Amino acid sequence: MKRLVVLGAGESGVGTAILGKKKGFDVFVSDKGIITNDYKEVLKNFEIEWEEQRHTESKILNADVIMKSPGIPDKVALVKKLNEKGIPVVSEIEFAAKYTDAQVIGVTGSNGKTTTTMLTHYLLDQGGLKVNMAGNIGDSFAKQVAEQDAPFYVLELSSFQLDGIIDFAPHIAVLTNITPDHLDRYEYKFENYIASKFRIAMNQSENDFFIYDADDEVITEYLEQHPIRSRLLPFSLTKKVDNGAYLEKENIVITIGNNKLIMPTTNLSLKGNHNVKNAMAAATVSQLLKIRKATIRECLENFHGVEHRLEDVLKINNVQYINDSKATNVNATFYALDAMKSATIWIVGGVDKGNDYSELYSLVNEKVKAIICLGVDNSKIINAFGNCVDNIEETQSMKEAVSMAYKIAERNENVLLSPACASFDLFKNYEERGRQFKEAVREL
Ligand code: ADP
Repeated sequence: MKRLVVLGAGESGVGTAILGKKKGFDVFVSDKGIITNDYKEVLKNFEIEWEEQRHTESKILNADVIMKSPGIPDKVALVKKLNEKGIPVVSEIEFAAKYTDAQVIGVTGSNGKTTTTMLTHYLLDQGGLKVNMAGNIGDSFAKQVAEQDAPFYVLELSSFQLDGIIDFAPHIAVLTNITPDHLDRYEYKFENYIASKFRIAMNQSENDFFIYDADDEVITEYLEQHPIRSRLLPFSLTKKVDNGAYLEKENIVITIGNNKLIMPTTNLSLKGNHNVKNAMAAATVSQLLKIRKATIRECLENFHGVEHRLEDVLKINNVQYINDSKATNVNATFYALDAMKSATIWIVGGVDKGNDYSELYSLVNEKVKAIICLGVDNSKIINAFGNCVDNIEETQSMKEAVSMAYKIAERNENVLLSPACASFDLFKNYEERGRQFKEAVREL
């Protein structure tokens, strides 16, 4: 009997343990932290042995295969030891993909993964395919493969998941964009992070597809220097492409061979140029999988969007309040500001991951009427924008931030929470930050 050791008992770890057990492995789960009661219950029900608050090496170094949760960095001593012993250390995606014949659509990128994954899943589902979705959303891929396998999966893939693949190859890969993020995990080398994202195409063949943002120079330059085997389907807002998606006047045009779909961008339910790109990517996947054009159009008109991503909360006194709490880096906030059609009170701040705010100067000059800094240390934001915005205020409370914004905002303006920073100086996570924003708005 082969031994599978799972490091980290989160959603992907517990899912992998369940699948391993089902496939006849001798499974052991080890977590350096505390395992939540829910997951302990699951492990007990499946009669899976586990430990917490330690990694007992004698029970780990005898594994045939290790599944490492994405949160555990490669540089920890235990992982180094496993590598030295030559024990394969893989991610959940690598492990689980071996046990399904499904066609996999993998979505990666620095921003837009969740939106594109959910939109693609919605399109394929409405188009009548039996399709599951996994990644950071809902049940893990491994658990779904074990318990409710389907012929199609849309997977949101982080670079950490991709670092742990050996043979995994999605039939359709989507790369939304690449901007510096998580560099602490990549020796502060942007090129390592780029290479990690491109692992999504590493095992693809000539029969597979690669859909990507052709306006993103990081992507196009890398592709020139490192050609890939799969068929390229670029999308672009600025240039015409023969195969793939582009804009012609106000229309999205998607061409795959002789097959063409045209749809006006004004009908898209999701606002902002970034969402035109996400829609192009999702519609290209749908077209590849032969979803009816009418269905694609209807779905792009009806998709409600995802919580905390440019989410319209309420209109009060004709002021629109928008929750973009998921914008945890400058690029995401760039697109949020870009999507604003009128003067905006911008709530920003939190834990800065080495932000370069200069990319935002021209948008802030053009659109931002006042800035409300919501963070423990706001000095960098104040220094960056002191010259372009007269009204900069500071607070450490969401309630106060919203009430300050309420006082400043006038008819037809926007109040936008788009922090460009991580949330953990004042909040548990970005979801809590977004929920507190919405609560404070509803209480106005
Ligand atoms: P991810 O899962 O990659 O973090 P999300 O879909 O959750 O991406 O969106 C994260 C943030 O990035 C949101 O603030 C959203 O408005 C913004 N965003 C979404 N799509 C894109 C895109 N294609 N390019 C840049 N920013 C985007």
